Amino acid sequence: VSGYGGQTVAVLGLGRSGRATAKALVAGGAQVIAWDDSATGRDAAEAEGIEIRDLTRNGAYDGVSALIVSPGIPHLYPAPNPAVAAAWDAGVPVDNDIGLFFQSYATDDWDGFDITPKVIAVTGSNGKSTTSALIHHILTTVGRPTQLAGNIGRGVLDIDPAIDGEVVVLELSSYQTDLARSLTPDVAILTNLSPDHLDRHGGLGGYFAAKRRLFAEGGPDRAIVGVDENEGRYLANQLSTAMSDDRVIRISSGQKLDGEGWNVFARKGFLSEYRKGRQVANIDLRPIAGLPGAHNHQNACAAYAACRTLGIAPRVIENAMQSYPGLAHRSQLIAERNGVRVINDSKATNVDSAAKALQAFRNIRWICGGLQKEGGLDAIIPHLDHVAKAYVIGREAEDFARQLTGVDAEICTTMDRAVAIALAEAQEGDTVLLAPACASFDQYDNFEKRGDAFVDAVNDVLANKG
Ligand code: ADP
Repeated sequence: VSGYGGQTVAVLGLGRSGRATAKALVAGGAQVIAWDDSATGRDAAEAEGIEIRDLTRNGAYDGVSALIVSPGIPHLYPAPNPAVAAAWDAGVPVDNDIGLFFQSYATDDWDGFDITPKVIAVTGSNGKSTTSALIHHILTTVGRPTQLAGNIGRGVLDIDPAIDGEVVVLELSSYQTDLARSLTPDVAILTNLSPDHLDRHGGLGGYFAAKRRLFAEGGPDRAIVGVDENEGRYLANQLSTAMSDDRVIRISSGQKLDGEGWNVFARKGFLSEYRKGRQVANIDLRPIAGLPGAHNHQNACAAYAACRTLGIAPRVIENAMQSYPGLAHRSQLIAERNGVRVINDSKATNVDSAAKALQAFRNIRWICGGLQKEGGLDAIIPHLDHVAKAYVIGREAEDFARQLTGVDAEICTTMDRAVAIALAEAQEGDTVLLAPACASFDQYDNFEKRGDAFVDAVNDVLANKG
């Protein structure tokens, strides 16, 4: 990272991303001091030669030019970390790695209507990874130089120096957009919005505000906005007055958007692009194995729209999408035996994403439960009509099961037990689906470990059945 050569920069949070930030700053000639509330974090950093300083101590920020905060650390709600508050008090700018990236990454003048955008930033409550990976896949397939980073894969400060014509695809969470002082993508995408991480944003308004920062005035040349929620409709309306209509692309899964402006929507398995009321493209998404379900068709719309802003032809995008392989733990088909499909959607960590998965399949043997998110399960109750039976895991299994009115639910508690019973009871035409609607931390380190445990359990049962 350039921009801080010869200066002292403080880094707060010494997990993987914090340590990568510290290294990137040092490589750019900065002197780094760092702090983590946990001794484990501090020890790991010290072992890598990073200098530790208690940033909550009086005078800790003397001579410090900036504080770079890791996404896992609360900076505002429910209460700021004391080291962040101390930086504010000391008048030291507080930023994150995303802000550093936008500040320092090839600042040449790429702006302008006909010029290739170079950074596409993707945010939204769900579908960020899928949309980002799909854009990256399409660009790779058509031979455009591209890098994928952010909340997916590698950190933004590990991005290689830009080459001409390259497109960097960034997946950004609300934690990341909230803190970054510079956020200047060429194309910004909001896939959708549903309540998540509300404690960290002081409520839904704060959460939406964090995501909206990607679309600030003077920000992106092109905005792609999911209009299936009121927040998206509101944002698209505001942007189309601020930016002019053909710089805003509205996307939807389910609504027909064939009016004025530039629109991309999916209905009944077909993606359509309309410009000024005229249909430009019509693509059958149903054969694409890597993108099952209406929720993935929304992601396809977002990715398609992003590629259109780069001037790629509809037919070329359509061809490239066919070979998209899907991402692990996201509606991933892991086995098919005797007419029973087994799907790993461990990434369905909130009610909304699980509801989408429950709509995408039929005759579902649903493995669910874990650490419940704020707001309870109310939002999922209307989407249970494809569920044949629920197999509830997690420490709060009983409480979870009690909320599933009208559904046959068995308390299994452990993954192994849930998988064994669900596979034993599944009949031809059924789908055994892990879509927990909950965080994993009561039983696993993260959703990936939970998905791996599911896959292992499935493989064990199938191996024993021969
Ligand atoms: P994110 O990176 O935003 O968490 P992912 O692509 O990893 O998004 O998908 C997260 C979860 O949400 C998965 O369970 C997936 O099946 C579901 N999902 C994916 N796309 C959407 C969407 N557009 N709307 C709702 N749920 C989605």
